Parts: sequence; structure tokens; C-alpha cells
Amino acid sequence: MILTLKPGADAAAVRRALAAHGLWVDAEARGTGHHLVIAAHSSRAEPQVLAAIEGVLDVCVPASAHPRVDAQGSQIKAGPAVFGGERPVLMAGPCAVESADQISRLADRLAKHGVSLLRGGAFKPRTSPDSFAGHGTPALEWMRRAADAAGLGVVTEVLAEADAPRVAEVADLVQIGARNMQNFALLKAVGRTKKPVLLKRALSATVEEWLLAGEHLLAAGCPGVVFCERGVRGFDGSTRNLLDLGALALVRHVHRLPVVADPSHAAGRRDLVVPLARAALAAGANGLLLEVHDDPGRALSDGPQALNLDQLAQLTGGLA
Ligand code: PEP
Ligand code: MN
Repeated sequence: MILTLKPGADAAAVRRALAAHGLWVDAEARGTGHHLVIAAHSSRAEPQVLAAIEGVLDVCVPASAHPRVDAQGSQIKAGPAVFGGERPVLMAGPCAVESADQISRLADRLAKHGVSLLRGGAFKPRTSPDSFAGHGTPALEWMRRAADAAGLGVVTEVLAEADAPRVAEVADLVQIGARNMQNFALLKAVGRTKKPVLLKRALSATVEEWLLAGEHLLAAGCPGVVFCERGVRGFDGSTRNLLDLGALALVRHVHRLPVVADPSHAAGRRDLVVPLARAALAAGANGLLLEVHDDPGRALSDGPQALNLDQLAQLTGGLA
């Protein structure tokens, strides 16, 4: 953002006024006509507010590559949940929906812990073709039934363009997984369903690429994108991924967009999920996506990172 000052303006006073808006000055230079030009950093400061600062002649905002995302706002409603509202949204459930019985048993118990969206994969992206890849369409129905009976909404992942309408019919929030963040044909197909989307950050995507993926969704008709930080690929295998709280804070506080954390996929181990969840909330997360299983040792996928119900209670008890 470049501010041109009126001749003779008090640059120090302008600096102070900018600081009061959370902006800082990168550089100052003398432009033509003795005007002082100041570049200040922020992606979301209202230009008309800055133009009203005493001594400012003109405010020039660089064009953004993701204007729809910039304009989307910080609150998104999905089923019974409001992201960016007063309370963090809790989404919880198994990695994969394993049976009708399992998901309905879990849904009832999760509802008692303040969870508002039931998570669970019917279509699972798996690194190995030999791993359990989900029960597909029947699992969508099991999940919807279980959620309705427990008064919950549904968040579930879509893997293929052809499945987008079917998944969107069942889900209150359609999940795009990390591995599909830049699957542009899928983003378009999901955007066309007009359902809000939970957009996971890809394993090595920059924040700008993540926001641009959101731009694709909004351009295709999606009514709102909730960004989900789930850990990026780090250099150290001690944890499954590296939870990027800096990126999360940037998306929440600078871009002013709804963002949640998935500490389960970030940590890859259940003993670290609760502390990471708390750290994410402290950094500004509008919610959490948690893998929870009533018998993690027998989970068909991602068992080591699944919380049991006691651990979920420990986390949610601390939030009350
Ligand atoms: C999931 O949420 O189960 C999942 C597969 O997540 P990610 O796309 O972040 O790996
Ligand atoms: Mn998983």
C-alpha cells in the first residue's frame, strides 16, 4: 500500500496514525512534487480510512490476485456452525466412517462434548493403494443419519469431480483435502455445488497458493471458504507434519478470514493433539478439526493420531 502525503504533512504523525491501525512503514521516499511517499504493509486496511488520516493525499492499493477471497469476510455459516463467531467451532469424528453403527454411536457422544460438525471420510485419499479407502456412498448416508439424530452438521471430504454433487447434498461443509488443494477441476466442480468449503492447505503450499485455491472456489460459485491449517511438510520426522501457526495467525489476523486447525494430521500422534489444539486456538483459530475414535487402537485409518473420548473431554472441558 502506498500513501502519498500532502506537501508539508507531518510524516511522524502519519506514522503514528498508521500504527494505530496496525500498519507499519516499510520505506519512505521523496516522490515528484515534494510529496512524501510511504509504503505501509497490510493486506486488509480500509483505504478510505487511511485516506482520512490528516496529511494523506492519496492511497494506492496494489491489485490483489484473490479479490473474492479478500472480500469474503470473516464469518461463514455451515449447517449449525458459524466460523468466525463467538465460539470456536468443534468438528470431530473418525478419520474414516467405518460402519453405520460406529458413526451413530460416536455422533451421540460427540454432541455431548460441544461438537457441532461430525467429521468422517466416506472417500479417503490414501498414500498407499492398499490402505482402507472408505466405504463410499453408503458411508455418506450413515453419516448424515447419525448427524441428524444427534443434532450435528456434517463435514466430509470429496475426492472426485463426479462425486461433488452427491457429497454436497449430504455435507453442510465440503472438505477439500490437502492432496487436492490445487486440483482445479475439483475446486470448480465443488464451487458449482454452492456449498461452503473447508479447504485444507496442501503439504507444501504457500499461503498465497492456498488463498488462490480459495479464489478458484469462490469464482466457481462457492458461498464461503473456511481455511484449514493441517501441518506442512517439515524437515523433521518426529511429528507427522509441522503445524504452521504463523500461517494460521496471518490468515486470521491479517487476511481476516475464517481459519481452523487440524492438530491431528499435524501431530500424527494423539499425545500432542491437545496441546497443539490449544496453541492453535491461542493463535486465533476459529475452530478445530479433530480425529476422535471410541477405540483408536482398532481404527481402520489414522488410529495413532485419534483422540479417545476421554481426551476429547479433557480438551473441551478446558474450553468451557
Ligand atoms: C482427513 O481429514 O482425514 C485428511 C485426509 O486430511 P488431509 O487432507 O489434511 O491429509
Ligand atoms: Mn485422517
